[in-house]
Amino acid sequence: MADRSFLNWPFFEPRHRELAAALDAWCAANLPVDHADADAACIGLVRMLGEGGWLEHSAINPDRPGTLDVRSLCLIRETLARHDGLADFAFAMQGLGTGAISLFGSHEQRQWLKKSRAGEVLTAFALSEPRSGSDVANMDMTATRDGNQFVLNGEKTWISNGGIAGLYCVFARTGEGPGAKGLSCFLVPADTPGLEIAERLEVIAPHPLARLHFNSVRVPADALIGEPGGGFRVAMSVLDVFRSTVGAAALGFARRALDETLSRVRERELFGAPMAELQMVQGHVADMALDVDASALLIYRAAWTKDTGAARVTREAAMAKLHATETAQAVIDKAVQLHGGDGVRHGHIVESLYREIRALRIYEGASDVQKVVIARHMLSGG
Ligand SMILES: Cc1cc2nc3c(=O)[nH]c(=O)nc-3n(C[C@H](O)[C@H](O)[C@H](O)COP(=O)(O)OP(=O)(O)OC[C@H]3O[C@@H](n4cnc5c(N)ncnc54)[C@H](O)[C@@H]3O)c2cc1C
Repeated sequence: MADRSFLNWPFFEPRHRELAAALDAWCAANLPVDHADADAACIGLVRMLGEGGWLEHSAINPDRPGTLDVRSLCLIRETLARHDGLADFAFAMQGLGTGAISLFGSHEQRQWLKKSRAGEVLTAFALSEPRSGSDVANMDMTATRDGNQFVLNGEKTWISNGGIAGLYCVFARTGEGPGAKGLSCFLVPADTPGLEIAERLEVIAPHPLARLHFNSVRVPADALIGEPGGGFRVAMSVLDVFRSTVGAAALGFARRALDETLSRVRERELFGAPMAELQMVQGHVADMALDVDASALLIYRAAWTKDTGAARVTREAAMAKLHATETAQAVIDKAVQLHGGDGVRHGHIVESLYREIRALRIYEGASDVQKVVIARHMLSGG
């Protein structure tokens, strides 16, 4: 049983504790699902998460627009990740893919949220390109105004849910200013003519992922989210909300690795006694527990800060993501070590956690980028 004592921290309200307990029970009854076909698994998971009502937390309610509750997003991601990495991915993408609509969408654009929150449409966030991943402002893809339409041309890559999403939130250069000042954000339904899945990408832990080709894709002018030229602000605002939640997913993986390790070292006998009695093993367990608690403190501080009215949580979110993803990798590595040969055996939970965690240190701002963000924030006077 995972440590739940953190739920008593002052960052949470009673509704958060109820949410965490209810979701934990739902996960125990429904997860993990079969991952043999990642596309089918994700489509099924989005439907299940919609039916269970969990996706209502992934986007605002268009009939009663409010704010996204980052503590709920983090608790849900942590809990899902602890039970099934693909379930966390499925939930996360419904939030990231609609984040721009939740934060900046018009009343008409927000009607999409009814479907995404019900699990009836899968969504994707298309920012990265072959030449611009970390260097977002350098993107090549263009959107050119033509009467009452925009025409999109270019490529996006590493797009999660690419190939199975029904709706893409796409960033392109509209040229109002140089670099970051000339980007805009558009809603592009997957069946829009000219939008092609150029390549499906396979990674270390299977997820639906694709490179997309936009060949004169025409969208109406009202597909623009926010202001023309405001796309960089839209993207950064979405990431400001969701960056801490990546840390929360990493925390869920780390907690699971710690739980598995506690069971293992209590049960397995080495040299005539439980492994747990070896002091070097105890040292590893202490390091793992410390990393987990420190990550949880940073994540729920960032989430609480955002929820209680901070306009931006750039420093807090960067610290939460950086620390939680880096230390989760270390925690999981220790778990693999303490499981011996079983730890590297295909199909063992710690082996899959070892693969699952790696990409979190790269996407939504690589660890090195988070360090730059934190340092710039501190050097500019905080
Ligand atoms: C599994 C997965 C899912 C993804 N899903 C999505 C998605 O849904 N939508 C989307 O738009 N993108 C997505 N991405 C793309 C992801 O955001 C980029 O891969 C990431 O931003 C890094 O960009 P890059 O791969 O082009 O690497 P590069 O930008 O070439 O960076 C390479 C490395 O350079 C280092 N680095 C970068 N900048 C600095 C710096 N300023 N100082 C020091 N070192 C630096 C980092 O170590 C970085 O990992 C996904 C990626 C993966 C792996």
